[in-house]
Amino acid sequence: MSSPVHSSLFAEKTLKSATSCSPVSLYLAPWVVPVSSPVIRDGAVAVSDGRILAVGSSSSLQAQFAGAGIETCQGVLLPGLVNAHIHLELSAFTELPRPTPDETFCDWIRSLIDVRQENRMAPEETARAARQMLQQQHAAGVLLLLDIGNIQSSPLSVTTHAAHVVNLLELLGPDAKAEERVLARIASLPDSVAATPHAPYSTTRGIMTALKQRADRLQHIFSLHVAESADEVELLRSGQGCFRAFLEERGAWENAFPGRGIDSRGTVGYLEQLGLLDSNLLCVHCVQVSEEEVRMLAERGCKVCLCPGSNRFLNVGIVPLELMLRHGLLPAIGTDSIASNEELDLWREMRILREDHPGVNPARIMTMATLGGALAMGREQDFGTLAPGRKAIFLNACSPALQGARNMEQLFDRLTGGGCPDKIRWIGEG
Ligand SMILES: [Zn+2]
Repeated sequence: MSSPVHSSLFAEKTLKSATSCSPVSLYLAPWVVPVSSPVIRDGAVAVSDGRILAVGSSSSLQAQFAGAGIETCQGVLLPGLVNAHIHLELSAFTELPRPTPDETFCDWIRSLIDVRQENRMAPEETARAARQMLQQQHAAGVLLLLDIGNIQSSPLSVTTHAAHVVNLLELLGPDAKAEERVLARIASLPDSVAATPHAPYSTTRGIMTALKQRADRLQHIFSLHVAESADEVELLRSGQGCFRAFLEERGAWENAFPGRGIDSRGTVGYLEQLGLLDSNLLCVHCVQVSEEEVRMLAERGCKVCLCPGSNRFLNVGIVPLELMLRHGLLPAIGTDSIASNEELDLWREMRILREDHPGVNPARIMTMATLGGALAMGREQDFGTLAPGRKAIFLNACSPALQGARNMEQLFDRLTGGGCPDKIRWIGEG
């Protein structure tokens, strides 16, 4: 994973070589939001050789880099957004209805399975919808995505698109028969394929621990759906509820829950007992977690990704964000798939977080959508902030509301509460 020491050495090296011979470009704007340092009024970003050299006030950088090419921008310069949880291969499944109040999370899973079986799509059709979704994401300011999919030979992995996509192959198997098959598959996977489990309710302990050992060996992120619904916690705690009925329906109920000798008070506690909690673990959702579990996640350096739009769509509750921040977690944000969300728009996700958590500082929510995502994916040396050494690809966002912001508080309020800005332009591409 990334190392801050490496990042700073790299930044120095870049600065030296660039100042000696490479041309420097300066981008000036009324507002610069570096995320890792305070907002700069009338700020500038200096770039050279595809990396950021410096971020500062417009006057100081113009003096420091006299002779640099200058571009004056309107609005705000900020890092590209990070969507830390999406399922691109589900992009064609736009028709799934929002569950009614008397439907359970398991009912939604049944609908998804049925729709996927009824509408078996040609691989080209799946890939086309996924590429279109990726284009939409990028056009709306997303630079880095963590994509979870069940198709191993997905044409998505050879995308030539400008967004940076990390693909994880998602594996699952709820009973002994499936475990045998999945373990054999894991053993035959090439090292170039990063694989991860779906969720504790759908994946046996044997599969999860085998995938964790493999992820540690290959040094890639270990991401799974965690504590998304109260139904999941009920299954782990007592072996009852709609998930038990769902597993029974499919002939996959083996009395695995509550696990013998395992204290299954919650999903995070369950994962802890399996030895899965560490800084390589990315827990997606974490809606139904106790304070004890939040503390455990923070102490072990685990990463968390919130999907507020999906949680609202599926009516599974509201994440304890204030608690997470108080314990020192900086969650990432994801849209999840179009099968469980009205639209996949990270600006809307920020707005939903604002609505659900009016006490949380909007600047923190902006940090989650950028640096939080980069940290969750171990890519903070390249993405998530405007700082020396980072990739020189960033956003210029513009709208009358942003241009009318009179101070930093108004700026963050409008960035996180106003939806996607009217104009999004990428700087540093092509
Ligand atoms: Zn998901």
